[in-house]
Amino acid sequence: MGTAIHVELWHTDKNTAEKNIQRVITEMRRIDSLMSPYKKDSELSYINDQAAKHPVKISAELFNLIQQSLKISKLSNGAFDITFASVGQFYDYRKKSQPTKKELASNLKKINYKHIKLNKKNQTIFFTQPGTKIDLGGIAKGHAVDRSIQILQQHGITQAMVSAGGDTRIIGDKGGRPWYVGIRHPRDKNKSAVILPLSQTAISTSGDYERYFIKDNVRHHHIIKPSTGDSARELRSVSILGSDSTTVDALSTTVFILGLNKGMKLISELPNAEAIIIDNNGLMYYSTGLKPAK
Ligand code: ADP
Ligand code: MG
Repeated sequence: MGTAIHVELWHTDKNTAEKNIQRVITEMRRIDSLMSPYKKDSELSYINDQAAKHPVKISAELFNLIQQSLKISKLSNGAFDITFASVGQFYDYRKKSQPTKKELASNLKKINYKHIKLNKKNQTIFFTQPGTKIDLGGIAKGHAVDRSIQILQQHGITQAMVSAGGDTRIIGDKGGRPWYVGIRHPRDKNKSAVILPLSQTAISTSGDYERYFIKDNVRHHHIIKPSTGDSARELRSVSILGSDSTTVDALSTTVFILGLNKGMKLISELPNAEAIIIDNNGLMYYSTGLKPAK
């Protein structure tokens, strides 16, 4: 997943605790090898290779995650769209390269979640538009964190924190106290913009500083507006709090693309989500549920 994994948990027996940490690492590796766009033998690579040619039978796990992605696409009017990869595949942030004008022009129409057809009965996926590619980078880490928490719970753990990059989920508290989770300052990696005391919560942060390069004074980063194939530039950082990591992971990417007003509106309409947004001037905004009572 190209990211750091962090696991903390509470147990009276050290060996059992370490065994459970190992279970999380194993699960993260399993999901990475299933969903990595960089691994040629991942199920995701197989889908991207075949699904425009014929319906491809896929695992229940990927089917469900793609189905969840499509739900968020509908909810956000296409701001969250895993087919962004049709253009996204032409970015290489390490090499500071972006799609050429020609690549952009010929591939932009391949971004549209409606090109994805899922058949529940046959458990298949089909792309109606040749050249369409998908990437689950905006939701897979959240899924990996949720799966990890589920495994810990199955093994009797009731107090734990699991993070994969900007996605963190906490069950229980830290021995009667909250866990402290910092939201990174978007322009200074040694600083926190805010530190939140949390228990029994999921939080996901999407920022324009995770993977990016600057060329001619323009920041090209990894969160892509499906309508333009270019980076979304209205905000610097979006954190979403909610009950599960899969949902808040997808929502943080979504709100980043929607921008402040549309993003806050979406969050206010959802029953179990709150947002902390840092805009392009470094100003911070909280959704209604996070504001102190007057
Ligand atoms: P990270 O923790 O990797 O910073 P984010 O939650 O911020 O993850 O999501 C960024 C990732 O989401 C990108 O690396 C890319 O894989 C994916 N992504 C980018 N644009 C979109 C989009 N419009 N819809 C869905 N996923 C996207
Ligand atoms: Mg996300």
